[in-house]
Amino acid sequence: MLGLGTYQIEAYDECVETVGQALRMGYRHIDTAEGYDNEDAVGDAVADSDVDRDDVFLATKVSPDNLDYDHVLTSAADSFERLGVDFVDLLYVHWPTGEYETTDTLEAFAELREEGLIGEIGVSNFTVDLLEEAVEVSEEPIFANQVEMHPLLPQTELQQFCAQDDVDVELVAYSPIARGDVSDVDELQAVAEKHDATPQQVSLAWLREKEVTAIPKATSEDHLRENWLSLDVELDDEDVEKIDSIEERRRIVDPDKAPWNQ
Ligand code: NAP
Repeated sequence: MLGLGTYQIEAYDECVETVGQALRMGYRHIDTAEGYDNEDAVGDAVADSDVDRDDVFLATKVSPDNLDYDHVLTSAADSFERLGVDFVDLLYVHWPTGEYETTDTLEAFAELREEGLIGEIGVSNFTVDLLEEAVEVSEEPIFANQVEMHPLLPQTELQQFCAQDDVDVELVAYSPIARGDVSDVDELQAVAEKHDATPQQVSLAWLREKEVTAIPKATSEDHLRENWLSLDVELDDEDVEKIDSIEERRRIVDPDKAPWNQ
């Protein structure tokens, strides 16, 4: 339920060091993307680690420019080569933009899964409408939708939709500490004080309560550890209610091309 995000860890040595340190600390889910320019470093860190490859949940993403049927297949092959693997646990559609076309794109993802090259199919930045269409069209199950989610962007509508029996899609939370902004929120500070924790840890614990996998990015050892130790923070119903009652809304990742801006 807690992974490591690697966006903007582009320097090779820093990325190898960060991912290696995270694996030593206990992280087992690593999130990258062809667009992050670090798949080679992520792959080397996983290969160099004492942790078995089978025990690491490796996720990567296909960029919007590579989402037509043929490009998905070549892009996935290129990702495998950079990562130095012949299987990834989860392959996402990074954004439903560019070459994305529901039937064509998801047919290629289904083929990769049927061939045993990917464990699960993921989508990212999908609204309820886009997710509904994807679930309907895809020949293989959609395992997860990776979206920005934290107490300032609770994604209530998506959560309700994903939990339906005939949908059954997991949410993966990116920017789960709102890139640090959660530390300014009074309610999170109060809950953090009660648990002798930090607002960042409370944000991650709140996502866990919602059964959402969070993938905070961290490069400093202190941040990596602090986030990992959020697993020890147990919120009670009162804490969750207090966090759910936060009215402030903030979206960090909000490009013009995003489907919610169309
Ligand atoms: P984030 O994880 O919310 O925040 C990362 C920032 O917070 C970094 O500057 C990090 O600093 C700092 N930080 C980490 N732990 C901290 C702590 N305990 N206390 C204070 N500061 C802390 O934001 P994000 O990188 O946008 O999101 C996480 C991951 O989600 C990405 O790396 C990527 O894998 C994924 N993502 C996906 C999409 C998508 O379109 N699918 C979009 C955005 C992100 P240091 O690095 O200095 O430690």
